[in-house]
Amino acid sequence: MNRIIVAIDGYSSCGKSTIAKALAKYAGYTYVDTGAMYRAIALYTIRKGLEDEASIIAALPQIEVGFVLADGAQHVTLNGEDVESQIRTLAVGNCASRVSAIKEVRAFLVAQQQKMGEAKGIVMDGRDIGTVVFPQAELKLFLTASPEVRAQRRYDELVSKGEKPDFEAVLADVNDRDYRDTHRAESPLRQADDAIVVDNSFMTIDGQMELIYKLFNEHADFH
Ligand code: C5P
Repeated sequence: MNRIIVAIDGYSSCGKSTIAKALAKYAGYTYVDTGAMYRAIALYTIRKGLEDEASIIAALPQIEVGFVLADGAQHVTLNGEDVESQIRTLAVGNCASRVSAIKEVRAFLVAQQQKMGEAKGIVMDGRDIGTVVFPQAELKLFLTASPEVRAQRRYDELVSKGEKPDFEAVLADVNDRDYRDTHRAESPLRQADDAIVVDNSFMTIDGQMELIYKLFNEHADFH
């Protein structure tokens, strides 16, 4: 069986990272959460109070985003500091959505992501993986679920982290982020023509993984 590239794209909070992590473990592949990379840059801009595009672009050479393994899980690092727990808030997610619309920020991270995939054997999730980062990926999945289902999932996740979110605010945030991700000029979120769409609104994680493992085995065998 050959090692392939698996590109997983889709809207925010539709379970991309859960699926990507499980598939990487199943296949013995490396998992890369590209959203975490945009979030790390967003955290840097928040900490430094950078608000305009020009100062964010000027700061890029001072930013190093990486990954470390901590307690068996992958954590994102910002200039060597493990910032995994700081990047998972609504505020950083929103800032990431704005920062990721900047062309130079995207070019900066896309180059690193392409390097990570040179040896194949990788599962990468994000918004532009099947369209821009790896248009040649052997398996492309496009995940989707209704905004209400995704808002409920994000609400539950925030509650489990000790935050006290308001459901309507979380739903409005999901809709805003969808709008920004699909309407930005640079690499908007869109389904690659050859992507397989998985709507998981009413699927269990197990049911979904069964389908995805099957798709993976078919594609890895074929290539
Ligand atoms: O997936 P996650 O919610 O962590 O991503 C945070 C934000 O980063 C997204 O709302 C999206 O705007 C941006 N992003 C992106 N391209 C990627 C991954 C994430 O623009 N490949």
